[in-house]
Amino acid sequence: MTITYELGKSLYVNITNRCSNACTFCIRKDEPTINGVDELWLEREPTEAEILDDILKRDLNQYDELVFCGYGEPSYRLDEVCRIARNVKAVYPIKIRLNTNGHGNLIFKKDMTPELAGAIDTVSISLNAKNKIEYDDLCRPVFDDAFQGLLDFARRAKAYSKVILTIVDILPEEDQEACRKICESIGVDLRVRSYID
Ligand code: SF4
Repeated sequence: MTITYELGKSLYVNITNRCSNACTFCIRKDEPTINGVDELWLEREPTEAEILDDILKRDLNQYDELVFCGYGEPSYRLDEVCRIARNVKAVYPIKIRLNTNGHGNLIFKKDMTPELAGAIDTVSISLNAKNKIEYDDLCRPVFDDAFQGLLDFARRAKAYSKVILTIVDILPEEDQEACRKICESIGVDLRVRSYID
């Protein structure tokens, strides 16, 4: 079972297979590896203690950043993610990022963003589309209000962490511009990722 793995100068943390989306482009079902890292599909979810132990076994001095990313959606365990992050920071002052679909508050049915304080430095949220209709088509979320929910999560999270919404560069320029305007309206940054990232 792979809990932590290296990509570049970052240490990634894999904690769940669960996801509230079923994106048309998701590689999880077809690709057992990411950049040559094996066994990312977890046969069971590691416990909070196992995750912390796996992280602290590493020499954190080697990494620029710790990234909760997962093969699934780490927000399913957002309370644990934030506790683990605080415990890691108590040992070593590493920057910590959460890569998420932004559904954390929908999953927990309450505002979880205060948990980010002192735990998560950067929240990177996949925006993916410029409106609900296109988001629902592409990401096939289990929540009816997923698009609005992720924007609300972003707006609230910026009180505690740096928030970045991401899209990919294959979106038409006018769609990228619409996403930029969304980000401006809620006061967060936009990152346009290469599609092959
Ligand atoms: S949000 Fe990520 S993990 Fe979930 S289905 Fe989409 S691409 Fe896959």
